Amino acid sequence: MTTSATAIACGLSLSIILHTPLALAKTPVATGTGGAVATISEQASQSALAILNRGGNAIDAAVAAAATLGVTDPFSCGIGGGGFMVIYLARDKRVVTIDHREMAPASFTPAVFLENGKELDYEKAIASGAAVGVPGTVRGWHEALERYGTLKFKTVLAPAIEVANKGFTVSETFSRLTQQNERKFQQFGTTSALYLRDGKALEAGTLLRNPDMAKAYREIAARGQRAFYEGPMARAIVDAVNRPPAASGSSVRPGRMTLADLANYEARIRQPVVSTYRGYEIAGMPLPSSAGVAVAEALNILEGYDLKAMPRAQAEHLYLEASRLAFADRNAYLADPEYIDAPVAGLLSKEYARQRRAAIDPKRAAGKVTAGDPYAFQQDASVPLRPQRSAPQRKLGQESLHTTHFTVSDKDGNVVSYTFTIESWGGSGIVVPGYGFLLNNEMTDFDFSGPHPNVPEAGKRPRSSMAPTIAFKDGKPAFTIGSPGGSTIITTVLQTIVNHIDFGMPMDQALNAPRLSERNGASTSVEPGFPGTPQARALEAFGHKWEDPPEEIGAANAIVFNPDGTVTAVSEGKRHGVGSALVQRRGH
Ligand code: GLU
Repeated sequence: MTTSATAIACGLSLSIILHTPLALAKTPVATGTGGAVATISEQASQSALAILNRGGNAIDAAVAAAATLGVTDPFSCGIGGGGFMVIYLARDKRVVTIDHREMAPASFTPAVFLENGKELDYEKAIASGAAVGVPGTVRGWHEALERYGTLKFKTVLAPAIEVANKGFTVSETFSRLTQQNERKFQQFGTTSALYLRDGKALEAGTLLRNPDMAKAYREIAARGQRAFYEGPMARAIVDAVNRPPAASGSSVRPGRMTLADLANYEARIRQPVVSTYRGYEIAGMPLPSSAGVAVAEALNILEGYDLKAMPRAQAEHLYLEASRLAFADRNAYLADPEYIDAPVAGLLSKEYARQRRAAIDPKRAAGKVTAGDPYAFQQDASVPLRPQRSAPQRKLGQESLHTTHFTVSDKDGNVVSYTFTIESWGGSGIVVPGYGFLLNNEMTDFDFSGPHPNVPEAGKRPRSSMAPTIAFKDGKPAFTIGSPGGSTIITTVLQTIVNHIDFGMPMDQALNAPRLSERNGASTSVEPGFPGTPQARALEAFGHKWEDPPEEIGAANAIVFNPDGTVTAVSEGKRHGVGSALVQRRGH
């Protein structure tokens, strides 16, 4: 058992168990009673458990886990980015969501990613100050703790500070991701110094410490969210965006962010998107994430079929086609609701789903489809302008596969489903000097040119696909689900729900099943090992085609609330290096 000097410096009682080096081997499934947590990082799950064991609630534990993920999985998430938290408050029996998505600086215009009227090269745009949105994560954590938590930053950040100070062992996955981003990281002096040695990725097994990130967390622990949004850290962020710490010889496009952009940043408390599916209530993330609406629309379409009774390939064909239709609508209509009048009620209507369902050929994959017309189902006579139904769609590869998702519950029944990100692996590639965290490139989630509801604008939040979800049965939490993976997040969540509810798979099987992601493209994304299988061939008979090369899709985490009152935390058995599921009291 260890208690670090940092914890003492933070004024924590020595009785708090932070990290136990003799912890049980990393396990992706755990059943027991009390609170539960599933994350992709052993240290993050341990941090959440330590806070639960200290009497913190699921919200406190979620912030502790998130802060630790910022240390151990810094290329997926962190305080330089943003996210969406879905919270079930057991005592009030209600779901709230905290939107702390990154926001475009006030200098943004629809032309920000254009040069001489042409779209900027996507990779160049990513590694730039211009790609950095005003980070929302610290503000999101602040709202979560102040409104729904029981502990202060000082306590919940302590486990992460300990990991950042003492270091953690670089995993194979971490090393591989660094290697894939060597060129991006080489462009920035601060990033090379932290994550590269002699310009190369750290090898698996290396101990990596991040004292600068520990310092950033200590300042937030001492002064709260203002330590991030005002003062020296805010100035360091603005400087890094506007004068990126580029290594000599690299030319990087600067951004135009101001201290006022940071000081003015607000998280939004939003109502969840709630839909029904075969007796479950599904609470998902509303706009500016497109996920809640897209998952609900696809499920509404699928509800009209008796998937359970069908041969597996037939049911999976319908899953792919429903996803295709929902994506056509998502791509055409959804963006920041403070800037556009999205036809959400129409898209969520069961009648609209019936109309969309009629467009599915039960025997044949449709290929690319156009968006439907949900306005007729809006029950809103005032809708004046309709966006183009065939709105241009960004290349699917350009919304790629990063981010982290995790989930926590506590003994009182509160539940958190939380996805947060810095967008691409390693975000913009810019580590803020002196503070050890990477800045996001979330602004590249805007469509670079219009007309499109999701074009860049000052103060706007780019459309997301992040899908933290909580499902209820008979008014009680039944399971949570969420995933990383850009726009494949939506299909991973959708497919896992179908696997679990329709195909009756236990959640670990539902998660580990091969993923198929149909996003209204020319072909369906699949994972290595899938093409050539009998399952693949059966779907090819319907005309489905697979994207090449196959790539791993997502790294999901879930919790199942069992009818006998026990709880099962479920993480990945194989993907992204096996996740970590922990429960407070283990069952048998
Ligand atoms: N930026 C993505 C989104 O908000 C998440 C990052 C990713 O997974 O690629 O949907």
